Amino acid sequence: MKIKTKNIKDTEILAKIFAEHLPETGAFVSLFGDIGAGKTAFARLVFTLLGVKEKITSPSFVILNEYKGAKNPVNDTDMPIYHFDLYRLENEGLETIKEELREYSKPGVLTFVEWADFGAGELPYNRLNISVSYDEEEFNDTRYYEFSPVGIEYEEFTKKILNSAVAEGLI
Ligand code: ADP
Ligand code: MG
Repeated sequence: MKIKTKNIKDTEILAKIFAEHLPETGAFVSLFGDIGAGKTAFARLVFTLLGVKEKITSPSFVILNEYKGAKNPVNDTDMPIYHFDLYRLENEGLETIKEELREYSKPGVLTFVEWADFGAGELPYNRLNISVSYDEEEFNDTRYYEFSPVGIEYEEFTKKILNSAVAEGLI
């Protein structure tokens, strides 16, 4: 089921839904979609809502940004955020990043991976895939966010997001 956001305000509502329902164990989120689709925009909104105060930039050149200052909304403890962008990852780079991808799939942290397609077999099995897209013929601000859980761990979270998105009129 695709969630439709007609503008950045709608995407902020979606980010709020995501942040509100984030499990106590955090999440590992892999984002797919073309350049300019809205992967970083969504990440930025989520991180800000969770309490990150510093400027959130796209990690496309550095591959990984780390943010402090976010709180887990369930238990109000510190929750580190890791924001990857694998677009410029070279083959040998995957070797080095693979440790970090494994490390940051542990419970209690929030990890977002843009261009997860380039992560090859190194993503954890249990994760939430989000595909972001837009209509190529339409030059407007409409974006589609499709949430697909991989593994049962993320089914409940996805269900809650979809239910709230329906309630907010985003589906
Ligand atoms: P990506 O990380 O997928 O390459 P970005 O998030 O950096 O893409 O860029 C998305 C661009 O689209 C931003 O300039 C953002 O402001 C704009 N935009 C317009 N409408 C929306 C929307 N509904 N949701 C998210 N971003 C939107
Ligand atoms: Mg991006």
